[in-house]
Amino acid sequence: MSSDTGIIIVGAGECGARAALSLRENGYRHSITLIGDEVHLPYERPPLSKQVLLDAAEPRTSAVLNDILLGEHAIRHIGSASASAIDTSAKRLALSDGRVLPYDKLLLTTGAAPRRLPDAPAGSRILYLRTIDDALALRSFMRAGMHVGVLGGGFIGLEVAASACSRGAKVTVIETQERILKRGVPAPIAETITALHQRNGVTVKCGVAVLGIEADERRVGITLSDGDVIPVDVLVVGIGAQPRTELAVQAGLAIDNGIAVNERLETSVTDIHAAGDCCSFPHPLYGGRRLRLEAWRNAQDQGILAAANLMGEARSYQAVPYFWSDQFDHTLQIAGVVDEGRAVVRRELGDGAFILFHLDDEWRLVAASGVGPGNRVAKDMKLSEMLIAKRVNPPIEALATDASLKSLLPRAA
Ligand code: NAP
Repeated sequence: MSSDTGIIIVGAGECGARAALSLRENGYRHSITLIGDEVHLPYERPPLSKQVLLDAAEPRTSAVLNDILLGEHAIRHIGSASASAIDTSAKRLALSDGRVLPYDKLLLTTGAAPRRLPDAPAGSRILYLRTIDDALALRSFMRAGMHVGVLGGGFIGLEVAASACSRGAKVTVIETQERILKRGVPAPIAETITALHQRNGVTVKCGVAVLGIEADERRVGITLSDGDVIPVDVLVVGIGAQPRTELAVQAGLAIDNGIAVNERLETSVTDIHAAGDCCSFPHPLYGGRRLRLEAWRNAQDQGILAAANLMGEARSYQAVPYFWSDQFDHTLQIAGVVDEGRAVVRRELGDGAFILFHLDDEWRLVAASGVGPGNRVAKDMKLSEMLIAKRVNPPIEALATDASLKSLLPRAA
């Protein structure tokens, strides 16, 4: 390998930036090029639906990589750039501006993009939230006197709803399913979150379809299947995300709900790896079931693992899936993959906080989901994650009471 054909990372979000840093931390000595389609340097996305909307003061992005770090680690960042094609036999990456870059190894961390509302009228008051620019556009509506409509009772929708409501706006959440958080969050937790929003004055409308949307430069009118017509100042659309696979498809890589990778995050083409929201991978804790995770922790962990494997290691990804969501004064956490079958509840956590432990057919702990104010569920959720990773079959009575979860961990040999 010549020293100037090093590793190219396509996608400058959390995952790509972590991978670049990790390569240097692991002693990688050849060139690292990080390509992103945003003008900004890599930044943290979790604050976009929370602090960036909540803070009255002009927000500052929290950078994952700044100019100093880029310089110190000799990472070349190419912003406002779009990778358009991969020549997998010549090992060259083409950018849409005509540049062609040779690579020794390629990492795709292209992330996911918001699912667009089909047939929505164009209008500056129908907004999506994925980037810092999206969040800044949304900020001006976070105030008293505004009516913020939210389409989709998922994580984006509910976090934006909580932020808007906390800033004094009137908020209506519209969800087509019969309840919010239908995907991956158990019903009792969704009920707690619904009640939390309602207590704070958010209107939550579930089980209604959108029949039509009219928009001009000042208002958006939403006609619902229950006959309601809701006029709002802005409509935030949070109806899911889709993996960004265009480049991988063009290059002929295997696709299966995202870019298909093996447990080492290798794609179907030699020397091309993928990580983060854009890829699906087999998870050993769930019988090799293929998962695609859209979560900050996964992006970070997979970026780090991909970096090690790009340097010749052969590590398998087996971290317990984990994510959290902050809404009002509550935090919701999920560890593992929730399959609503057998569940045991632990309620002795105070202030209405509780955790559900999810068990498989063999009574093995496969997931835990908790909700409560502040950090009420944090400690037990951390221990639950460890129990899931250790494939423990815990005694039911210990889960249901306030017995120490730590005592259920297998002792080190
Ligand atoms: P999401 O969590 O998948 O939720 C989207 C919700 O909108 C689902 O309940 C979906 O129902 C519903 N929906 C779909 N089409 C609809 C329609 N036409 N009208 C009304 N509701 C509709 O996705 P998201 O909230 O848009 O979030 C986007 C991405 O940001 C995800 O990757 C998410 O994980 C990430 N994010 C994560 C966090 C966090 O981890 N704390 C916070 C913010 C954002 P169906 O299931 O039926 O489609």
